[in-house]
Amino acid sequence: MRYFDHAATTVMRESAREAWCKASYEFNPAGQYQLGRRARSVLEDAREQVAALVGCEPIEVIFTASGTEADNIALKGLWRARSDVSSRVISTAIEHSAVFDTVRYLETLGANLELLPADSSGFVYDPADVFSEPAAVATCMWANNETGAIQDVAQFGEKLARTGTPFHIDAVQVLGKLPIKFSELNATTLAGSGHKFGGPRGAGILIAKRSPAPEPLFHGGGQERGIRSGTVDVAGAAGLAAALQEACDEMDSQQRRLREFKCLLIDAIQAAVPDVQLNTPQHSLSTHVNISIPGAEGDSLIMLLDSHGIAASTGSACANGVNRASRVLLAQGLSESLARGTLRLSMGYTTTEEDVNYLIDKLPKVIAQAKRAGMA
Ligand code: PLP
Repeated sequence: MRYFDHAATTVMRESAREAWCKASYEFNPAGQYQLGRRARSVLEDAREQVAALVGCEPIEVIFTASGTEADNIALKGLWRARSDVSSRVISTAIEHSAVFDTVRYLETLGANLELLPADSSGFVYDPADVFSEPAAVATCMWANNETGAIQDVAQFGEKLARTGTPFHIDAVQVLGKLPIKFSELNATTLAGSGHKFGGPRGAGILIAKRSPAPEPLFHGGGQERGIRSGTVDVAGAAGLAAALQEACDEMDSQQRRLREFKCLLIDAIQAAVPDVQLNTPQHSLSTHVNISIPGAEGDSLIMLLDSHGIAASTGSACANGVNRASRVLLAQGLSESLARGTLRLSMGYTTTEEDVNYLIDKLPKVIAQAKRAGMA
């Protein structure tokens, strides 16, 4: 299988598997006896390793079970901690559903939600200067999961710091791909997910400054500074840390290699399909290529590619198997029909030149077939 869905999940790294298997023998890290102390030392090593790689203090690293959980803890928790100060919540129209559905939920609790728009290239902007007034919490993703567009989160953080508004960054697509220095972002919290950079699935991180800290969503043993109660998954933490270490160590060479593949792919698609719409802007992750094909259905493209042994996705979640136009691309101004004919090709550390050439060979035929099949 030629795998072009690394943005959804990537192959678990051998280093992560080893660290994960080794740590799977560990006991409860809260135990007072030798076995507990040993588990705790493995956990704290993982915490220190992650902290060094994302530029924060070890105490700021909270292990969670997913990126979705980290986003939920940050946004609901900061809202709870701050809703008496302001009812405003600022987010963007292009967030992943882990954030988008969460801020929509906060609206049902009384939040006045303000969604920043994105321009036609997929970049979030602030036309009404909503950052100049304090809010309970503000959030913006660092890189978009569908298009790969990289947002200027440092600039947003700087503006928000002036009003003392806590800032949450969804960095799930960025960890292991771009250098991160949490301490320089003016962010309060930041979410990451192990399985996006070669760690185990079911292991995430929330980086949370000491103050203001999110109020806990669930109560219990008070682990992870009380922000995320529940016995910590030591193996998950060790696997995540090992994967992040390897991803950061090879970041420069991988990103250079993938950037070349990305250019090859875009040039070949544009040459073979003149009416293609490229939804990935120049300033984007080197892993993402998002295109829309007029007159073709995203589902047809996926199924036809699958029949050639190529795994790719439309990039947007589909409900009950029904292909819906991507909310993100609609927000960027694409028409409903064009947004429905979308294909996301995402690469990762295991992608080879052979994979890319194979895709380049099959894609024009697949696109022609999907166009003949038309729209449902
Ligand atoms: N945020 C973004 C930008 C994502 O791409 C994803 C996963 O696709 C998530 C959050 C959710 O992460 P997880 O799969 O670990 O819950």
